[in-house]
This record gives sequence, C-alpha cells and structure tokens, in this order.
Amino acid sequence: MKVRVAVNGYGTIGKRVADAVAKQPDLELVGVTKTRPNFEALRAREKGFPLYLAGEGTPEAFATAGLSLAGTVHDLLSKVDVVVDASPDKVGRENRKLYEAAGVRAVFQGGEKADVAEASFSALANYSAGRGKRFLRVVSCNTTGLARAAHVLRSTWGVDHWEATLIRRGADPAESKKGPINGILPTFHLPSHHGPDVRTIFPDLSIATTAVVVPTTLMHVHVNHVRLKQAPRDAAEVVEAFRRSPRFLLFAPWEQVDGTPQVMEYARNRGAGFGDLMENVIWEDGVRLDGRDLYFFQAIHQESIVVPESVDAIRAMFDLAKDGPESIALTDRTLGLKGR
Ligand code: NAD
Repeated sequence: MKVRVAVNGYGTIGKRVADAVAKQPDLELVGVTKTRPNFEALRAREKGFPLYLAGEGTPEAFATAGLSLAGTVHDLLSKVDVVVDASPDKVGRENRKLYEAAGVRAVFQGGEKADVAEASFSALANYSAGRGKRFLRVVSCNTTGLARAAHVLRSTWGVDHWEATLIRRGADPAESKKGPINGILPTFHLPSHHGPDVRTIFPDLSIATTAVVVPTTLMHVHVNHVRLKQAPRDAAEVVEAFRRSPRFLLFAPWEQVDGTPQVMEYARNRGAGFGDLMENVIWEDGVRLDGRDLYFFQAIHQESIVVPESVDAIRAMFDLAKDGPESIALTDRTLGLKGR
C-alpha cells in the first residue's frame, strides 16, 4: 500500500515536491492544488496531475481557461493520508485547520514558524524526530543547508561554536516583483533568525548567524567559521567528510566553477528537472583549516534543497524506512542525486 499524498500550493516548492513524490515507489501523488489558472496549472495537467481548487480561487476562472478541475482542496484531502503544504509563508498555519478537520497528516515548509508542527525536520540531521508525527515542518532552505553541514561536522569532530554570514538571493528567478535589483541590504535583526532555526534541529548547537540580501536569483552562499571541538588532520580530511556524506556536491579547483553562475550552469548541464541542484555545494578550494578553526563556503539552491527533505519527512512520519540513511538513499536514487 502506497502512502497517498496531496500537494497544497503548487508554486516554486510545491511543483518540485509533486514531481519528486510522483517518482517514489512507496508514495502516490493523488493531486495538487492551484488557486488560479496559470502556466503552472497547465503544466500540472500536462503531467497528468489531477488539479484541485484551493484558497480564494473560483471554478469559473479555471473553466474559462479550459482547465478541468477534479474538485476542491476538501475533496482532495478526503482522498489522501498526508498533505505537503507548500503555500506561501504563514498561509500554511491557516491551512492546518483544514488538515485537522480532514484528519490528514501534514508536512509544512520553512516559511512557517516552528510551532506549526510537532517537530522540525532535516533528514540527515534528525530523521528519527519525524517518526510517527502528524505534523512536521521541513526547515527553510538556509536552515536545511546549515543543518546538513552541522550534522557532518558534529558527528566527526564536534562543534564548539559556529559563526555564519548568509548571503541571500533577493528573489527566485521567476519573481519579478521582489528585489533588490541593485545594492546590498543588511538584515538588521542581529543575530539573524537562522541560528535559532538551526537549534530547532540541534538544540545544543552554539551558532550565531548574520545575513545580507543581494541582487541575485541563483543561490544563497554561506560564509562559515566553525571552531571545532577536535582538530581535523588537515583541510583535505574535512573535504573528504563532506564528500562521503549524502546531499553534498564538491567542486575541485580544476573544474573552474568560480561561483554560483557556474554551479547552476553545471546543474542545468546535469539536467535534473527544472535544472535543480538539491545538494549543499562545497568548493574544495574554499575549505581552510587553522588548528580547530574551520573556514568554508557553501552554496544552497533555494528552490530545490528542501525537496528531498519533504519526501523523507513523509517516510519518517509513516515509518516507511528502517532509518534515515535508508530513506535518503531511496530518495536520492529516485531523484538522481549522485554526489561525486
Ligand atoms: P510560491 O509563492 O512560489 O508558491 C506558493 C503557491 O501557493 C502559489 O502557487 C500560490 O498561488 C499558492 N497559494 C496561495 N494561497 C494558497 C492557499 N490558501 N492554499 C493553497 N495554495 C495557496 O512560494 P514558495 O517559494 O514555493 O514557498 C512555499 C513555502 O516554501 C514557504 O513556506 C516558503 O517559505 C518555503 N520555502 C521557499 C523557498 C524558496 O526559495 N522559494 C525555499 C525553501 C522553503
């Protein structure tokens, strides 16, 4: 018996999660929702995903566009075991009432506050925390990137203290109403909310984060300084630890991947759906060690990094895998995440 899944909110994250769910042997994508007809609704129909009406949308608008609806979000919820909520920030909390009324479990995204769910989730870091939960929250793109790296560093050398500056993309590629289109915007909430969000996964991690927003749409970049508990032998040992871990992709200097433009060009060359890149990206040349002090950069493709996590979250909730590594291996195989 496959676990029946709905995706409520078919935008940047929702359309990627829907594709990923449809590829899993133990999950069935029952349908997706749209509030209004647009090219994404058309693509969902072209892919054969049943389309349901959500939010403030009207059936008339879909009829005018010639897009057939299979029903409303209420109809969809009556047919599934779990819903992945990928609606805009804070709308997920409102939607939770629908899920409670329908008696379905739900996976929320990182735009919701942590208390929307029973636990926050990152597959490498705390898979078992998702076991049996009714409501689970996949942490945001930046927090997922930090939590994955924290898992590798903590489990190998331990972390004394971590300082990270997040260079955040101003908008996703399809967003034409956000910015900045010029300038660098400091985030005056100091330290930024990302550190406390990482502690929803690792409550005892000493981490302080700051952030700036810049005019790029491709990726976020994290500038990290970590004081480890034990000194690695050398930087190469740290590179090896990241390389051995699932969900990390490393670039060697000879590859001439100077920054995020080449990283995303590589991703488009690799040819995963949407040209996505779901791993943390580490530049080997950007890993330096000074005793216990580790410096490294990592790049995060904000549009897709939480997609495999959303699949693993469902598996954890329904106990579909023996453990985190088994779920991660299956997700990564079906999504074509190979590491290198
Ligand atoms: P988005 O705006 O691209 O997509 C949201 C979709 O939900 C849209 O299609 C919108 O029409 C639809 N919607 C609006 N109201 C709805 C309702 N009441 N019910 C159902 N659907 C509704 O947003 P997104 O970027 O995909 O973000 C979704 C969630 O994922 C947010 O919590 C966000 O913080 C989180 N997230 C986003 C990113 C990113 O970089 N885009 C990364 C990680 C996590």
